Parts: sequence; structure tokens; C-alpha cells
Amino acid sequence: MDWVQDADLYGQLLGLESPWKVARVTLDIKGQRVDVYLEHGEGLLWPCPVCQKKFPGYDHKEERVWRHLDTMQFQTWVHARLPRVECPDHGVKQVEVSWAEAGSRFTKFFERFAIDVSRETDTKGASRILRLSWDEAWGIQERAVDRGIARKPPLVLRLMGVDEKSMGHGQQRYMTIVYNLEKSTVEWMGEDRKKETLDSFFQTLTAEQRAAIEAVSLDMWDPFIASIMEHLPDTEKKVVFNRFHIMKHAGEAVDKVRKSENSLLLEAGDPTLKGTRYVWLYREKNLPEKYQTRFDELREMHLKTGRAYAWKEALGGLWEYQSEEWARKYWRRLYWWATHSRLRPVMEVGRMIKSHLSGVMAYFAHRITNAVAEGLNSKITTVQKMAYGFRNREHFKTAVLLRCGGLHLYPATHPIV
Ligand SMILES: [Zn+2]
Repeated sequence: MDWVQDADLYGQLLGLESPWKVARVTLDIKGQRVDVYLEHGEGLLWPCPVCQKKFPGYDHKEERVWRHLDTMQFQTWVHARLPRVECPDHGVKQVEVSWAEAGSRFTKFFERFAIDVSRETDTKGASRILRLSWDEAWGIQERAVDRGIARKPPLVLRLMGVDEKSMGHGQQRYMTIVYNLEKSTVEWMGEDRKKETLDSFFQTLTAEQRAAIEAVSLDMWDPFIASIMEHLPDTEKKVVFNRFHIMKHAGEAVDKVRKSENSLLLEAGDPTLKGTRYVWLYREKNLPEKYQTRFDELREMHLKTGRAYAWKEALGGLWEYQSEEWARKYWRRLYWWATHSRLRPVMEVGRMIKSHLSGVMAYFAHRITNAVAEGLNSKITTVQKMAYGFRNREHFKTAVLLRCGGLHLYPATHPIV
């Protein structure tokens, strides 16, 4: 093997800048590792890492080792002794190097790759693929998110989404998540789903940032509404109740009607509605082929469930109106229908919508929904499923921001020296 050429190759792979060069490369077949030794010339001036003023080398620290990208299946390690400078203003400081961030035990190339891997799997999986300990793999993720947060420009949030996220059992079962609907990112996460929770998000914003928010999409959840009213100017036109949430409430009403009707029928020995939960779940236009026949039969039977379903279908038609004026006229008919349906769950949804009507109708001015948030929400659910590794909420937030924060996570590759 030509070792001189090899040294050049590794220098290029590492993106080395003068005055650093590869002195030698050793290959340990048995230990499956490659060791790359770096050195620099004599009589050089080095910049102080704080002020960038140049000074001659003061002394050298003992050799340091960084894990680099594997060479095929061989773990690859970079070795160097870093000089220190004595700056009259900042004292004795270790110089910065282009291949690694200060304090890291990995090269920037390795960290970058490790971040890519971590975003696609859980920490356990990442540690196995990267041949790191769990703590090392997690440390890279944590540093990446800290780096991303530190670099984040001041928030410009025009279209905001806010939603709760159930966290399973335990003391505080919910988290509040604030989305940037324009950028498809998670902006903020807080404990619980109270008014105070969302208050604490708004308190991180300046008056200008709050004024820049043009619309907020959310469910008809009164604590959030109260917080928005308190913190945003001209809230009347800005609160938009997310139509997917509204349809979800209507779907739940159909299900409640089905449940109670099913128990009544079963008491009379009639199994008509048994096992039909999924048949009623879809909008008619999205009904899967396999349910079609059953659905047609059920619809002809004039069941209470069928009437609740018909109301929900009609509510789905609301969003197709182009003008708010016509949508309001249509809504008045829907509301009359709900209140005369003699179906308690349908009446309740009707009343809930009526008492939040201006925010429901605001959809026709903004036409925003939480569709983007739905996508992010399912990513967050994936993170929750990896949660055996997340000992606390801070870890959970870090894991979500790594995947959904829209942050610049990689170490900077700017040349130093
Ligand atoms: Zn200095």
C-alpha cells in the first residue's frame, strides 16, 4: 500500500486545512480500526479562539482522539495534539480546529452522519448503527438541538396552530404544542393544556411578534381561546376553529349514538349494529369498498345512527362554501336540524359549534386548517413510541425538535485557521 498517497486521501476526506496534514495512517486488521495521525508545521501563529488575534504556540495539550466516519467496516479515529495560545486578553486557550467542534469527541463529519441516522430511528437503533453507547448517541442529538436553538433567528409566526397532545397516563397527561403552519414546524411545547400553558408561550414573544400573528388554528378548547384573547390584538378575526377537529367532534357524536342504539337493539335481541363502528367512521365519498354493501343496507333501515351520520355528512358540506354569508345561511339550517334531531350527542355538537360560531366562520376568511399539524402530530406519536428512552419531558422535547423543529442541526463546517 502506498502510505503517502493514503495520507493525502485521508487529509481530503477530513477536509483538512493548512497547517494541518496527515502524518501517518495505521491500519489494524485484527482490531478492525484505522488510526489517522495529524500534525502541523513549526513556527506558526495561531488565532485565539475568542478574539482571533494570532499568537505563537504556547504549549501543546496531550494527544486527543476523535471518532471519524468508518472506513468501510473499520472504525476510524483521528489523533492530534492541539496547541494552546496565550492571549493577553483571554488567557491560555486551546486553538480551534476545522474537523471538530470544541469539546467534541467526534469529527464534524461523524456528527453530521450521526444526526442524519438519529432522525430516522430511536437512540437505541442509532447507537447500534453508529457503534456508540446510548449516552454518546443521545449526547450528539442533544448537542444538535442546542446548536439549532442557539442559531434560530427571531421567531416570525404568521399562521399559528395549537393543539394538545395526550401523553398517556400519569400526573400531567397532556402537553400543548404550538405549530408554525407556514413552515410545518413545531415551535414550542409546554406542560399541560391549561390557559396558563399557552400564556407561557405568548410570554416568550415580543409585542411585535404577537401582533404579527395573523391567524391561529385550534380546536374549540376554551382555555386556549381565553389565552389567545388575552395576548393577541384583534382576536375576533384571528381565531379559526380547525375544521378537522370540528368534524372529529361530529364523528364522535355519531359513535355515541351508535353505541347507545346498539345496546338498546341488543337488549331486544337485534344485532343489526353489532360490529359496525368502522362502517360509520368515513365520509361517504371515502367509504372503503369492503363496507359499501353493509353501509347501503344500514342506511335503508332508518336507524338513529343513520340520522346522526346524515347530519355529520351535511356538516362536512359546510366547508365547500366559498362565501361566509352563504356558509352562515347553510349553518342555520344545519343547526335547526341538529336541535330537532332528538339525538342528544348531535344536539351537543350543534350547540358547541353555535357558541363558537365566529371562529368556525373565520375559516372562510383564512382557509387555514391544522392539516400540517396533523402530519407533525403523527411524527410526534412515533417519538412517543420510542419513549422508553425518554426519562423526562426535556428529553422528549429534544427528540421532537430534532425531527420537527426545522432547526439547523449540523456542526458548522466553516474553515478555521
Ligand atoms: Zn483573545
